[in-house]
Parts: sequence; C-alpha cells; structure tokens
Amino acid sequence: MIFDSHAHLDFSEFDHDRRALMAAMKAAGIGGAIIPGVSSEHWSKQKAIAHQLQLPYTLGIHPWYCPKTLIECDQSLAALRTELMTANDSLMVGIGECGLDKPKAELAPDNPAYVPWNLQYRVLDGQLALAAELKLPLILHSVKSHNELLGMLKQYSLPRGGVIHAFNGSYETAIAYLELGFKLGIGGLLLNKNAKKLRDTVSKLPLDALLVETDSPSMTPHFLPEKRNTPLTLVQIIAEMANLQKNSNVLISEHLQQNLMQLFEL
Ligand SMILES: [Zn+2]
Repeated sequence: MIFDSHAHLDFSEFDHDRRALMAAMKAAGIGGAIIPGVSSEHWSKQKAIAHQLQLPYTLGIHPWYCPKTLIECDQSLAALRTELMTANDSLMVGIGECGLDKPKAELAPDNPAYVPWNLQYRVLDGQLALAAELKLPLILHSVKSHNELLGMLKQYSLPRGGVIHAFNGSYETAIAYLELGFKLGIGGLLLNKNAKKLRDTVSKLPLDALLVETDSPSMTPHFLPEKRNTPLTLVQIIAEMANLQKNSNVLISEHLQQNLMQLFEL
C-alpha cells in the first residue's frame, strides 16, 4: 500500500463520495494520503476528516490563502503556533502547505487572486521559524519562486527538512533542495510528455529524493475526462516514474513509501 503524499481530501469536492473514494483507493493499492492544511478557516474541518478517515495531516497557511494584512498574518501565525503546540495528535505530522507563489504577487491588485509578496514572505517566514522551533517537517509550495525559497530555507536550521510539493524545476534546482535536506514531490505533470525538463530531472535523480503526490482535487492530468483529480492518479504517476527511472513499479512504490514514512515519521 502506497500513500499519496499530498491530497486535499478535506475539500468540498470530496464531500459527496469521500468514503467511496477511499474504498476505490484501497482497491487500487493506495492506502491513504497526507492531507495538507491551507488556512485557519479550513483547519477544523480538515482535522475532523483526517480523524474520520484516520489519515495523517499537516497544518499550515497556503500562500493563496494568505490573510489580507500583516496584522492578520501575524494573528494567523499565532493561531497556527497554538494549534501545533496543543495538538497532541499522532495524526498531525508536519507544517504546510506553505510557500511562495510569484505569479499571484504579479496579478493586478484588484484581482481577487492577488496576494502581495510581502504578505506571502511574512507568512512563510513565520512557518519556517515554527518548523525550526517545533522540529517538524514542511510541505512547501513554490511557483516560479525557487531562488527566493532556497534563500529563505538557508536562513533556518530545519532538522526534519520537508518536501517541495508539485516540484517543477531543473536538475540543478532539485539538487539545491536535496543539499538542504528536502525531498521533491512529483505529481501529475510527469504524465505530460511536453514537461520535458521535469521528466528529464526525474529520470536523473536518486530514488531517495522523491515522493509521489496528486495534489487532488487540483492538477488533473490533461488526458482525464473529469475535472476533479483524485489519488487514483497515483497509479499512473508511479508507472511513469518507474519508466523514467528504468525500474519496476513494485520497487519504485516500495521506495517512495519508505521515503514518505521516514520524512513524516508515519
Ligand atoms: Zn496543495
């Protein structure tokens, strides 16, 4: 049984068939998923669902869900600190998802999806400090922000490292993360034959460097008819990874699951 290292199974897209989906996942050899947190408004539903399904989760503030002012950002970080300090919950396994998303900071300020860079920076910086203080692994989101993120990670001592989720970058960028003790979360983009840079990177990296994920309900592979992505896509991603790494599905699956269990101490 392999786990999806990143699936937002608490999102409303799964409200109508979450249990049926879990059964379909088990039948396909997918034992579960880590449910990443996105904002303080989502944490209580997220925790309730993680407990219902007995799945591990992380708590965090996603850059898309960044509060609108610095004061609210600091309040949200204080709330996160309280949640993490008082969790006493074996299913709570890390901090995230958090990170930087440059395209969101480059939108027009009147666009509802606009998130100013200074707020993204503040909220990520606060979560890196928490990961260092509480010795928790991180789930990181980085869109066109690898240099800035690498710079920030180097300022902290992060004993448990983490994962750069939905990694899409060059071999050199991947190595820079590995040298800081991070792994790379590989998702459905690998199934796109036009994603040449990512496919080349994955073919060259050591298997120890990789995790596998779907980012459900987002990142639906282009060839699927449905709009919603599910952890069932993991089967195809692993098959493609095995193909690129020139290894068997079974060996790749075992190794990926070991990497996940080691990183999050499952
Ligand atoms: Zn996500």
